[in-house]
This record gives sequence, C-alpha cells and structure tokens, in this order.
Amino acid sequence: MTSIVVHGGAGAIPPERHERLRAGVRAAAIVGDAILAAGGSALDAVVAAVRVLEDDPEFNAGTGSVLTRDGTVETDAAVMTGHDQKIGAVGAVPDLGCAIALARAVLEGGEHVLLAGPAALRFAAEVGISPSAPGALVTERARARLADHLARRSSPTEGGTVGAVARDRAGRFAAATSTGGMVGKRAGRIGDSPIVGAGTWADREVAISATGDGEAILRVTLARNVAARAAAGLAVAARAALAELAAITGGSAGLIAIDRTDRVTLRLSQTMPVAWIDVAGRGDGLADDA
Ligand code: ASP
Repeated sequence: MTSIVVHGGAGAIPPERHERLRAGVRAAAIVGDAILAAGGSALDAVVAAVRVLEDDPEFNAGTGSVLTRDGTVETDAAVMTGHDQKIGAVGAVPDLGCAIALARAVLEGGEHVLLAGPAALRFAAEVGISPSAPGALVTERARARLADHLARRSSPTEGGTVGAVARDRAGRFAAATSTGGMVGKRAGRIGDSPIVGAGTWADREVAISATGDGEAILRVTLARNVAARAAAGLAVAARAALAELAAITGGSAGLIAIDRTDRVTLRLSQTMPVAWIDVAGRGDGLADDA
C-alpha cells in the first residue's frame, strides 16, 4: 500500500497561478507514484518528485529559486529516510539546480548530515554533480520578486518551496524538501528546509515536509513537533503543531504528512498546492486550513 504526497509551497499565490502550480505538483506526484508502483523505494520516489519541481521554473527550488538580496541563487534541501533515520542535507549552495540530488549524495555518503555554502560544491564535484552557470537558474519572475521585495512592495511571500513524502511497499517512509529560501535573504542564510526536524522529518511512523516562514518553522522545529505528537493521530498532531507555531511566532506555514493510515495537507497561509496518489485514488488541491 504505497502513498505519495507532494507540495509546492505555502504562501499568498495569486489565483491566476493556482492551476499551473497544481499541474506541477500533479506531474511530480505521478513520477513519484510510478516509482512506488514499480516496487521502488520511498527515497527514490521523493527525490524524483522533488527533482521534477526543481526543474519547473514555476516553483521556488532549482530553476526559479528566489534570489538573495545580492541577486544570486543559493539553494537548500534535505532528504530523510524513516526506517533508519538517515538524513542528507545541503544549505546555501550557490547556483545548485538539483539540491535534492546533492542532499541524497550526502545521505548516501554517510559521513556527514549537512554540508553548506560554496565548499559543498567540492563534494558535489566528487559525486558528479555540477552547479549551473551563475545566473542560469534566475528567472524573470524571480528578478521581479526581488525588485518588489527591495522596493518594499511585496505582499506576503508567494512560497514555492517544494516537498514530497512517501511510503513504499515495504512500509518505509521518506521525506524531501528543496527550496531557494526566502526572497531577499542574506547570502549564507539557511532556512528550515534542510534542518532535520524543522522543514523535513521521517521516522518509522511518519514522514513530514513543511514550508512557509522558515525562521518560524525553525523556532518550533515544526516537523519533529508533529512527529512527537503523532500518537494522537496525524491530523490532530499537525493542527496542534501549526497552532503552536502561530501562537509562538505569529508566522505562517504549511505541511504535508503521512503515516500508515492517514494523509494530512494543512496550511496557515493563503494557499498551498498539493497533490497525492495512494490506494484510495489521486487528487490535488490547495491544502486545508489548519
Ligand atoms: N521555508 C522556506 C525557507 O524559509 C521558504 C518557503 O517554504 O517558502 O527557506
């Protein structure tokens, strides 16, 4: 009984973009589901789903990442497997369009959990992963978002971070999250996505990918907070953890989570595109209000 859920970020997404983003997360879920249906691992499924969205310029990950205040791209990503609680993560890596692939290489390398900054590209070279040419991941929309932000015209963030959670035939969970971070961030800033227990978590019972206001998510270690409450039921746990985030930080966030029996897609923000495929069928939407 396999299951995959994909998200495309929590934020204030203009209605005219909703359908495009829903199509994106649907396509990613289909790719991940095909791997699970063929007997592939949850790890393979979440990495493949996230790679689809890193290459989709509509999302804030890989190509299409938001820009630092210097106008550059620095990406963060993490992938975690639940049965052995292994995680690989990368943070603030310049011009890296496939951050989730490098995160996976960190996981499989087994030496470290998190590599950060330009020096992470030395490990990338060792495992055959190259960054893009400077500027190659920058889209017109990302430039416009930075200009808006710098002119203080921006409304709340549009989000666009991507993530996936899956359970494979063997009952193993995995979670993956990839992002360009927050528009106008300082160079070197690392958000919640690659931090174990904040934006990404998987164990033997659950898999969770969170998105939204990264500093708020870090302050409450949102994903681990959901996992710690999971015995109460996944939906109850996710609502309680998001309520705590709102009460403590005033920030906005969303998350996707699965356990053996349940699927949760919840948001405090205005919108969050999600798509899922499991035994009960497939669907997509804009996540429920937390
Ligand atoms: N959580 C991401 C970060 O702070 C951004 C997002 O999800 O929109 O880097």
